[in-house]
Amino acid sequence: PEKADLRGVGQKEAEPGPGAIPRIKLVLLGDSGVGKSCLVLRYVRGQFDPSSKVTVGAAFMSHSVNLPDGTTVKFEIWDTAGQERYASLAPLYYRGASAAAVVYDISSGESFQKAKHWVSELQKNASGNIAIILVGNKSDLTEQREVTTEAGQEYAERNSMLFIETSAKTAANVAAIFDTVAMKLAGNGVTAVL
Ligand code: GDP
Repeated sequence: PEKADLRGVGQKEAEPGPGAIPRIKLVLLGDSGVGKSCLVLRYVRGQFDPSSKVTVGAAFMSHSVNLPDGTTVKFEIWDTAGQERYASLAPLYYRGASAAAVVYDISSGESFQKAKHWVSELQKNASGNIAIILVGNKSDLTEQREVTTEAGQEYAERNSMLFIETSAKTAANVAAIFDTVAMKLAGNGVTAVL
């Protein structure tokens, strides 16, 4: 059956071989301004673009990654497209997601408090088996840091989430978000979703 083409503007994708590449739908959550769009653009295009809102302009972006075990997985990375202001994102956003990145800004204690709200949104709306990574972005802003690494780590551990600090600006740990999630899902035997 024909399906609506919801393709994003994926770049540098691996050529699909005869067998389908396992796909991981990852949804991004977190307050507006924490750097979600910048993280996606850094990962998919290798750029830091502060006017990222204008640039993304798609429901999701695709990016393939080779895992250390030799397999390839394809991420479908869903950005909120500015919908954070609504109480709940559309159910379509969460449907079929096997992973989520809850992003805050290490220079904003408020965004860290709000990360807890996003985790509970996720628990209400997503399926039970979702792999969640807590992402403390803007790690380059050392002078303005309001959230310690330990606070992030501790919150993630208490809620069985993965944890990482990143900078979309310097690229530090950005690819590691996706590698970590893919490895976690592979370890659970859940790489093929959608
Ligand atoms: P979103 O609303 O969560 O998608 O946030 P954006 O990706 O639009 O980023 C908001 C602003 O934060 C951007 O204009 C960037 O200037 C800034 N920003 C994003 N990531 C970083 C980062 O890692 N370091 C620094 N210093 N600024 C960042």
